[in-house]
Amino acid sequence: MSYTCGLLPVLEQGDDHHYEMSEYEGARARWCPGCGDHSVLTAVQRLLAAEQLIPEQTVFVSGIGCSSRFPHYMKTYGFHGLHGRALPVATGIKLHRPELTVFVAMGDGDCTSIGAAHWIHAMRYNVDMTAMMLDNGIYGLTKNQTSPTTPQGFKSNTQPYGSFLPALNPIAASLGVTNASFVAQTAEWAPSHLYATLRAAYKHKGFSFVRILQRCPVYTPSLFQRAVQDPANITLLVHDDGVVTPDLEKIYQSQTHHDPRDLAAARALAEQSDRINLGVFFKDPSKPRYEETRRVAPRTPVERVALLEKEFARYAV
Ligand code: SF4
Repeated sequence: MSYTCGLLPVLEQGDDHHYEMSEYEGARARWCPGCGDHSVLTAVQRLLAAEQLIPEQTVFVSGIGCSSRFPHYMKTYGFHGLHGRALPVATGIKLHRPELTVFVAMGDGDCTSIGAAHWIHAMRYNVDMTAMMLDNGIYGLTKNQTSPTTPQGFKSNTQPYGSFLPALNPIAASLGVTNASFVAQTAEWAPSHLYATLRAAYKHKGFSFVRILQRCPVYTPSLFQRAVQDPANITLLVHDDGVVTPDLEKIYQSQTHHDPRDLAAARALAEQSDRINLGVFFKDPSKPRYEETRRVAPRTPVERVALLEKEFARYAV
């Protein structure tokens, strides 16, 4: 039995309601036709239905950018915040309400430029959430501006003679962060790999960073063209403890057996520039999580006031 609170159905205890995928659909997505974000949205809604996540106990947090419209398109709770600030908001939500399931949607500019400091420290804090970085190699919402992951030489409105610097490598950067516990890469044009990777990230206890290669047919239509048209340019990292997609074996025949516990091998794979590796690069659920190491017993309002008074008393003159 359920009743409605605002837009969300609220379940009473013992409710055996089965959620259909359509029940996670929010507003109609306004991304451009052919945008890879649509594919990610479908994979996420499929995941929530498969895991039967309760909408009012699930939160999507985003910053600013095309992909940051994500929370509007989910019928869960959501927070569409400031540019680059999705991760501190998500961290605050999870620390205060650990029972909630938290997802973060960021773009490449959002995460690896203005939000880069938050990205590094969120990985180090290792608070349990799934962070998706949808990487189309450009600032799309602000109309074709160079981002840190824009390929060198790519002409944009902000660097019309071509991007000056080599692109930042988000997987290599993530693998360099102390206490990182889950780093993976997938592509939105390989739906079963996308789904399996997001599922592995969701199941991981700790901060899961997933870079999703995402086509933007408006500003960077050629960015992943070679990989999309010729699967031989892609290598799948396979392992029972990572992502296994038997349905893709015929399409992606280049496969590497990679143990996600092997950080040195993960770093070597991340540095390969002649091909695209998809899969779980690194995973270590034993890494300490901030919410565990800093856990305090729940306190009543009276106890909180008493604690505050005690603190104030320390500074009394
Ligand atoms: Fe998607 Fe690019 Fe359109 Fe943004 S500009 S919605 S990334 S296709």
